[in-house]
Amino acid sequence: MDLRLDMEPTDRPKVRDEASAIPGEARYVAACVLLGLAIFVIDSFTLLGSAVAVLYVLVIVMASQLGGSLVIKKVSFVCAIATMVAFALVHGAHPETQALLRLIFSLAANGVTTAILLRREVEIENRRAAEASLNASEHRYKIIFDTLAVAIWEHDFTDVKRELQTLRQQGIRDLRQYIADHPEFVVKLRKLARITNVNQTALKLMGVASKKEFFANLDMFLWEMDQSFAKCLIALDEGRLSFQSETKLRNRHGRLIPVIVALNFPADGQGLERIQGSIVDITERLAFQEAIEASRRELEHASRAAMIGEISASIAHEVNQPLSATMNYLQAALRWMDREEPDLDETKKAIQRALVSTEHSADVVKRVRMLLGKAKSDTAEIDIETAILDAVRLKRADLSSHGTKLSLDLSRRIPLIQGDRILLQQAFLNIITNAMQAMDAVEPEGRTLSIESIPGASDIVIRISDSGPGLGDNSGESLFRAFNTTKENGMGLGLAMCRSIVAAHGGAISIANRSDARGAVVEISLPGIAAADQSAAGGD
Ligand code: ADP
Repeated sequence: MDLRLDMEPTDRPKVRDEASAIPGEARYVAACVLLGLAIFVIDSFTLLGSAVAVLYVLVIVMASQLGGSLVIKKVSFVCAIATMVAFALVHGAHPETQALLRLIFSLAANGVTTAILLRREVEIENRRAAEASLNASEHRYKIIFDTLAVAIWEHDFTDVKRELQTLRQQGIRDLRQYIADHPEFVVKLRKLARITNVNQTALKLMGVASKKEFFANLDMFLWEMDQSFAKCLIALDEGRLSFQSETKLRNRHGRLIPVIVALNFPADGQGLERIQGSIVDITERLAFQEAIEASRRELEHASRAAMIGEISASIAHEVNQPLSATMNYLQAALRWMDREEPDLDETKKAIQRALVSTEHSADVVKRVRMLLGKAKSDTAEIDIETAILDAVRLKRADLSSHGTKLSLDLSRRIPLIQGDRILLQQAFLNIITNAMQAMDAVEPEGRTLSIESIPGASDIVIRISDSGPGLGDNSGESLFRAFNTTKENGMGLGLAMCRSIVAAHGGAISIANRSDARGAVVEISLPGIAAADQSAAGGD
């Protein structure tokens, strides 16, 4: 195979080095000197007169072969002096006009010859400098080519392009379709795409020892399923300037290497015999992507497992309350029945309350499962303050037996939200319960629960503050983690549930110490429905 670019800097062709090319330089110099002397003698001591001096131009031309401008200038100067000395010897102080004209003619010939030779010298110097810089850049290119970390090979696409042009001449315009119908065409062209040069990285990548042993054409290492070459043909046929694709190459040992190939095509269709392609090995990148994907899957699995645990624990936590209420109502019913004169009315009422409570727990279970299982819950346009008041109503008896004063500051002008009333009510119940439990630590007369709603332009903020001891050393954020509790019988799920519920409504929740450090404050913000939607829904 004809692989180029093996040229070393010393092999570079020289523009001209005539001096070194002259055999026997000393003899050549002697010949010049002798010729000059001969002209001088003839000029000075024969009757031929000054016309002989014109021959000095021969000496100057010969001398120009010996070196650069300086030699030409010196020899030219000496010849001019010799011409004038000979003239003085022959013609004395009063020369004839004709002799004077011959002298001027000889000196002019000397001058013109010198000027021409000097100009030629300048041109040679310029050419030499241009060649030197070309050689230097060729050398630089060779170093870059060979040492680049990216594999590069040069292809000769001349035959490939000719085949494509033949197809066009045959009237085939849709190359895609033609390739789909004639896959053997691509196989044929793979063999015609010859490799003319490769760099060291390419040799290493393909497991080949030297450039001479490298694959001769693309067909020898493109894998059987390759689609990229067909796409490359289409790009070339459509006159695109570059092409990039992902494929696999089979190296010398038969191993398939995933790579990204990029080729640049000449704009004018010329230079197809030297198309360069860069090939990047993406084995590691793919392995890395796979590792990331595997850990993402593992993480998803782990969080699903955690979610399942959370769901079970949450359901247990949330139904505990209505179940205890049911039990209380049923015990009360039994007591009414156990009386000497059973009070059937009261018994009936207690059983009815137990029934309502049981229904509530069933509802809670359903909705918690829907939320954590990411199923669709019952959303509707709701007035958030109604959900707050529902929760307060459910807790009113507990609040009064606990001695907690309730301060409600609801604006009644806040925007509607899209959400699940029962879930939101559940969140408020949790927060109120936490506040009451926290306020167990202070005297009953110091227990105050404040709930306020603050309408925003497009969202709603609900602030629930208590007069308990505050969060102590706990950071607000840590309390939202499931199973994080400071209570003896706590489960640490209430706030985690609240965050899930609020997040499912597109909102945010935080807990912090009150700014006056006299308790804790929970803040919930929820996005409201756009005004236009509200009017369409006929909200109150
Ligand atoms: P649990 O009530 O089962 O402990 P939560 O998730 O509802 O679970 O609460 C987690 C922790 O947050 C509580 O144990 C408590 O330490 C703290 N906490 C919640 N609300 C308040 C509050 N209003 N004041 C002080 N601490 C609170």
